[in-house]
Amino acid sequence: MKCPQCGSDTTQRLQVVHEQGTQLINTTSNTVGTGFNASPLASLGLAGARTKTTGTAQSAMAQRAAPPPRYPVVAGLGVVLFGLLCLAGDGWAKLGGLALMATGLYASHWAHAYNREKWPALYARWESSWLCSKCGCIYVQELN
Ligand SMILES: [Zn+2]
Repeated sequence: MKCPQCGSDTTQRLQVVHEQGTQLINTTSNTVGTGFNASPLASLGLAGARTKTTGTAQSAMAQRAAPPPRYPVVAGLGVVLFGLLCLAGDGWAKLGGLALMATGLYASHWAHAYNREKWPALYARWESSWLCSKCGCIYVQELN
C-alpha cells in the first residue's frame, strides 16, 4: 500500500494502529511490607495492600485511529425514564418531564437511526482506511 500523498510504503491499516496503541490494563500489584523492625502498631498496616487496575490506555495515535463511535440509544431512554419520574411532580415538573421525554425519545430515535443507517458505512470506511507513518495522512483504500 503506497501513500497517495508522499508515496511511502510504511503504511498501516487504521484498525492495526488502533489495536497496537490500545493496551488492556489488567494488572495486580502487591505491596507487601517487611515488618521485621517495625513497631507492632505499624505492622498492622503492613498486612499487604492489593491494588487492581483495569481499563485501557491509548496512545494519541490510537485515539486518532479510533473507529467511528456508535451512539448509545440507552442514553436517550434514560432521559425518557427521568422524564417519567418528573411526571409524578406537579405544575412545572410535569411540563419539564414531558419535555424531557420528548427530547429523550427524539435522541434515542436519532441514535438508533444513525447506528443503523450511517454507522455501518462509516465503519466500513474505517476498516479500509490506512495511516501513513511518514506523512501522517489517513486515506481510504479497499483491499483487493
Ligand atoms: Zn504519506
